[in-house]
Amino acid sequence: ASTNALLEVRGLEGWYGESHVLHGVDFNVHQGEVVTLLGRNGAGKTTTIKAIMGLLDKRRGSVRMAGQETISLQARHIARMGIAICPEERGIFASLSVEENLTLPPKLAEGGLSIDRIYELFPNLKERRRSQGTKLSGGEQQMLAIARILRTGSKFLLLDEPTEGLAPVIVQQIGRTISALKKEGFTIVLVEQNFRFAASVADRHYVVEQGKVVDMIPNHALDANIEKLHAYLGV
Ligand code: ATP
Repeated sequence: ASTNALLEVRGLEGWYGESHVLHGVDFNVHQGEVVTLLGRNGAGKTTTIKAIMGLLDKRRGSVRMAGQETISLQARHIARMGIAICPEERGIFASLSVEENLTLPPKLAEGGLSIDRIYELFPNLKERRRSQGTKLSGGEQQMLAIARILRTGSKFLLLDEPTEGLAPVIVQQIGRTISALKKEGFTIVLVEQNFRFAASVADRHYVVEQGKVVDMIPNHALDANIEKLHAYLGV
């Protein structure tokens, strides 16, 4: 069935070598939505967003971006469609300064945010513009990783556990950034373990279990579904 979703994932399967990890993932995301993938460790959340980006050697099924099938495209072609991933390991250049990290990456698309706009969104990065990547706190590194993506002009972001290991005050800051981006029309898929953070920023939640999406819970229905969700997450 065709929807007007910006991203439509149907029957997505994926493998690492011989290991079959995704067993038919189904979900969709509309323009301007913030959607989470929730689930236990090893459920397949990271693998799902890698597969969407074309970063998994073997994948099958359907991934449509604005109606266009991408399942057999190479990663660099998918990136040019205006979708970007911020991996858990963040991928910043440790030996370069904040400002070098922001100015070096090639622009992939029109509409990348200016350095000034980046510094408005992330005042800490402005303060630390001359600091080396290695000298940054975990929260600053995470913000820099997101900021680098915003330079590329991608309006669709896949964020892999951006709050992992960060202090609560920094988590709040990242939450405000995500809300600001949503207001500007960005579309965001968030892999999260921090359930309270997920609830504070997202419109809808997909539950991933053993390589499949097993449920979808709108954010407004979270309270009513809290026991079910605890069972899914094993908390
Ligand atoms: P986590 O929070 O632990 O990252 P996840 O839901 O994101 O959880 P995935 O990282 O997608 O889970 O992992 C799904 C399955 O794939 C797990 O069984 C994991 O052990 C396996 N896996 C992940 N990365 C690889 C890899 N590079 N090679 C082989 N197997 C992998």
